[in-house]
Amino acid sequence: AYEFSDRIGRVEPSATLAIGNAASALEADGVDVVDLSVGEPDFPTPENVVRAGKDAMDAGNTGYTPSNGIPTLKEAIAGKLRDDGVDAAADEVIVTPGAKQSLYEVVQTLIDEGDEVALLDPAWVSYEAMVKLAGGDLTRVDLAPHDFQLEPGLDALGAAVSDDTELLVVNSPSNPTGAVYSDAALEGVRDLAVEHDFAVISDEIYEEITYGVEPSSLAALDGMADRTVTVNGFSKAYSMTGWRLGYFHAKGDLIPQAGKLHSHSVSCATNFVQHAGVEALTNTETAVDQMVEAFRERRDLVLDLLAEYGVEPPEPDGAFYVMLPVDEDDSAWAESAIQDAHVATVPGSAFGAPGYARISYAASEERLREGIDRLAEGGLI
Ligand code: PLP
Repeated sequence: AYEFSDRIGRVEPSATLAIGNAASALEADGVDVVDLSVGEPDFPTPENVVRAGKDAMDAGNTGYTPSNGIPTLKEAIAGKLRDDGVDAAADEVIVTPGAKQSLYEVVQTLIDEGDEVALLDPAWVSYEAMVKLAGGDLTRVDLAPHDFQLEPGLDALGAAVSDDTELLVVNSPSNPTGAVYSDAALEGVRDLAVEHDFAVISDEIYEEITYGVEPSSLAALDGMADRTVTVNGFSKAYSMTGWRLGYFHAKGDLIPQAGKLHSHSVSCATNFVQHAGVEALTNTETAVDQMVEAFRERRDLVLDLLAEYGVEPPEPDGAFYVMLPVDEDDSAWAESAIQDAHVATVPGSAFGAPGYARISYAASEERLREGIDRLAEGGLI
């Protein structure tokens, strides 16, 4: 009875979902699965943020809000961006249900059939799907040969982009690699963007989760203010995945244009959640520091345990993932990891990086030890 759109036929369900299903099936059979596939912090949302959400609900903040977001949150976001060196005002921000919705709206607003979009591989799975849904063509730049970094000179990116490029997506710190791009690399990105006159999405959702490096905002660089859409969200920094809260910032016409799609699709982000967002942005420094410190300890633990087995992945400077070099057929490896060793990971090919598997260290030290021991016992590392 249904005749499906060409658009929906262009995309596959998310690979992480398939792993999750396999893990659930095993668990339903009573098997203990060490789940290192998840993309969410395992900490509770900070208590004061939860309270702010409850208080807002009790105060009756349960109706629609202005489509682009409540003024106090947009002000707090603009203030945060200014702290990062970005020239930002509250009316240049749209608040969305999650950063994913921000990215979706921006891609839909900028990309037509046949427009060229460049991704830095390995890249988060949903960028590809969003570009395909918009009808865009993908140019993929493989950073795996350079330990997932934008190498000095940016030869690979320079060779991939041209005057036909409409958009480049930069995600630093990166999911899945944890790479944080240096200021010199970002300046190289800027030079290419200006030379070829393309726009850049800077997905900064892991910005708060770094270990001894300070990631810069692309929009703060000379020449980038008018061509950079900065995307960020609350899921990772404040452990708020299920609240669904994110935002994007851009100068010029992009906000009114994207605002049309925003108002005709989601209307607005959830009212009381936006109030909790104000608390998260203004009053969580200690909680964030504690979470980041815990992630740092786990990253070091995972790297030490892997080193004991002779495995030395590139050291991630941010986010909470390690890319483990595995067999060429990483899908078969991940299948074996889940079915035989009962450890859930995500195969690198889901991110455009065959030969790797992504391990998330958003898990307790005990489970991380258990997971890596199982991989070793199963001869998988
Ligand atoms: N961008 C990246 C790189 C991510 O890893 C994620 C979540 O996994 C998102 C965006 C979207 O996050 P959310 O929609 O929860 O804000």
